[in-house]
Amino acid sequence: MPDGVFSLRQLFNTGEEFKVNAIRYILKTRRNVVFDRWEKTKLGAKCNENDCGWRIYCSVENPIGKWMVKTYDDEHQCHPVGRCKQIKSPVIADLFLEDIRRDPEMSAPKIKDEMKRRYNIIISPPQSQVARRMIFDKLQAETNEQFERTNKNTTVQINTIRREDGEEMFSQIYICFDRLKRSWKQNCRPIIGLDGTFLKHSVQGMILTVIGRDPNNQIYPIAWAVVSAENNDNCEWFVHMLKLDLDLGEGENILIISDMHRSLIHGVSKELPMAEHRTCARHIYANLKKLHKSDTLKPLFWRVACEK
Ligand SMILES: [Zn+2]
Repeated sequence: MPDGVFSLRQLFNTGEEFKVNAIRYILKTRRNVVFDRWEKTKLGAKCNENDCGWRIYCSVENPIGKWMVKTYDDEHQCHPVGRCKQIKSPVIADLFLEDIRRDPEMSAPKIKDEMKRRYNIIISPPQSQVARRMIFDKLQAETNEQFERTNKNTTVQINTIRREDGEEMFSQIYICFDRLKRSWKQNCRPIIGLDGTFLKHSVQGMILTVIGRDPNNQIYPIAWAVVSAENNDNCEWFVHMLKLDLDLGEGENILIISDMHRSLIHGVSKELPMAEHRTCARHIYANLKKLHKSDTLKPLFWRVACEK
């Protein structure tokens, strides 16, 4: 980590390292130092206050391939005022990146205040606004890159329908992460559980989930969807998306277990006609229990359900 201290014949591995050290120097001393030479192998900075003689010059030292401070006049004739031309939005953005990551609510005026409190340096409101925006762009880019690196072939489909007044309205969303579908194909048993649950309150619609069984017979999440309503079209679309993602063909050698939602049964028979489709025993039992309250039902039911 550069400490913001300079000396004659000091070495830097890169020009960038020299520049970072100069920024550190400015933050530490509040001097109005600016870069006045910016070349491929030469960098120079000076104090921008009138009649101040502070300056530094650094260039590549060829035999050793490093940057070396060749000139350093380290006496200021000026007084530090805390207005530093070189402390621009990108520098401020670097200083506050981690703060905003921890607290995205941190406002532009707060950044301005913190610059004053931590470094005793005065920045303008537009500078802190631009810096804040740069930080959000950077964090967003990080997220995008991470997502692309780990989920390149993730399927996300969102469909809307246009209402009569021209407004677009949510209809369907389906998500299947690349890792999950790849691993299901490689490692899991050819059993798929489909389930639908109604969303309550103001949201309405239905959430559809797909789970598998891993080699240890543990539950393995595969995909999920939210649709605006339970109907045949929505469920057919959902099973269709799943069929493409998991390469299910016509459903040969696949066992589907689901609850008794009629539209799900319809979707499976339409899209995966060859699949063996069974109803989840737990759901059948729950329905039977509504009609028959007897204590003897449960053991009898499971004896029938598990009969080979
Ligand atoms: Zn000076």
